[in-house]
Amino acid sequence: MSNKNTFSDMPVDEFKKLGHQLVNWVADYIDGIETRPVLPDVVYGDIKKKLEDQPPFKSDKLKNIISDIDEKIIPGITHWNHPDFMAYFNSTSSGPGILADLLSSGFNANVMAWHTCPSATELEELMIGWYREIFNLPENFWGIVYDTASVSSFHAIAAAREYLSDLEIRKKGMAGRNDLPPLRIYASEHAHLSISKAAIALGFGIEAIRKIPSDDKFRMIPAVLKEAIEEDKKNGLLPCCIVATVGTTSTTSVDPVDDISTICNRENIWLHIDAAYAGNAAILPEKRWMFKGIEKANSLVVNPHKWMFTPFDFSLLFTKNPGILKRAFSLSAEYFDTSKDVAVNYMDYSIQQGRRFRALKPWFIMRYFGVEGLQNRIREHIHLAKMFSEWIESSDDFEVSAPVDFGVVCFRAIPQNITDVDEINSFNERLINKINKTGKLFLSHTNLNGKFILRICISGLRTQEEHVKKAWKLINELSKE
Ligand SMILES: *Cc1c(COP(=O)(O)O)cnc(C)c1O
Repeated sequence: MSNKNTFSDMPVDEFKKLGHQLVNWVADYIDGIETRPVLPDVVYGDIKKKLEDQPPFKSDKLKNIISDIDEKIIPGITHWNHPDFMAYFNSTSSGPGILADLLSSGFNANVMAWHTCPSATELEELMIGWYREIFNLPENFWGIVYDTASVSSFHAIAAAREYLSDLEIRKKGMAGRNDLPPLRIYASEHAHLSISKAAIALGFGIEAIRKIPSDDKFRMIPAVLKEAIEEDKKNGLLPCCIVATVGTTSTTSVDPVDDISTICNRENIWLHIDAAYAGNAAILPEKRWMFKGIEKANSLVVNPHKWMFTPFDFSLLFTKNPGILKRAFSLSAEYFDTSKDVAVNYMDYSIQQGRRFRALKPWFIMRYFGVEGLQNRIREHIHLAKMFSEWIESSDDFEVSAPVDFGVVCFRAIPQNITDVDEINSFNERLINKINKTGKLFLSHTNLNGKFILRICISGLRTQEEHVKKAWKLINELSKE
């Protein structure tokens, strides 16, 4: 950042000045976030219309760029850090997480291999150990950080395929082979779309996924899974992977891992657990029932960016078979030979070579809040969700639509004067549109057995009891209108 070289980076003094300004800007933004509507009031194209459409040929001042943020970018921001954002699995950021991200850009280390940044690889290994500890996972669960759960599950399913080593798919591929039986992936009907995407990308095809029905609490039925495997084997199909979801996206239902893992172990089929959201709750001893039998699983994904105040993105993949994951992806080239290294080279376990230095985020967050601080926050969210579901249960105008085990409540309005199924659905659809249009609350929805369901998710760092009360009041008011 020398001032002397005309072709260098911005001058260090300017960086400091604007850097401080921007940190202040972010601090004030978060501090004042409640004065803003949680959802922007824009239509597609509104934001681009305000921006220069040609790249600037001449240099501009960074302060002009910063002032454009206020005027042109903010109007189209969905405020994920807003305490009234209660849609999806709300990944809020946190002060320590934001600062760690800044540091990560400052270093700009590419964590391909140990030697490309020893601290980054070793901190990542250390953080995997910390998560294993706080989630009470088995000692033999090795781990790696990817960007998202979709990518983690992609790698897990690639490892499951590699586990069938006799098929030599790594070498020969899957196309045009009459020695290869059709492979099967099993998942509940509530499994996340990312499992289907992995099947597409890995050459299984979507039809390779056999959807297993779930019970009245939206949990996969192990007996049906067992029958499906037997039937497929009789028909010449080859079971490759079973995906159990701990905390489904719609209702946070928990597939019975223990029973499913027994089937997997007996059949020697790779078991992948998708606990992208709910896995974070394993930090609480009282929630560890959800992981009963986990030691029998081959892989597990948890996203701290969904419920541990970690700025997007941060996904953890654990596996007790790292050698198989490595076999699926490691290659060496003359320009990059890691084959003789003693250290871990994470690029050998991943489709991508270059990797961000993400481990700084949990290192900052866990040290700053402490495990106890994280536990208290997550426990509070679950408490608030329970409280909300009790209000619904004691109301004649609403009903709870799924069990409440974590921070999500699925519910719907049941207006006294309407009995027709479709009309109740459209009433609820209109209700959520009305709610979200106010800018005072953001909810998401799902469909359960043909019913239009509203979904409230309490997982924001800034969401407190007063916000949940306010949400309930608004929902009541708008449903009466
Ligand atoms: C959110 C979610 C995913 C996808 O997570 P990304 O990190 O956005 O890819 C996968 N599985 C489940 C169960 C989820 O809830």
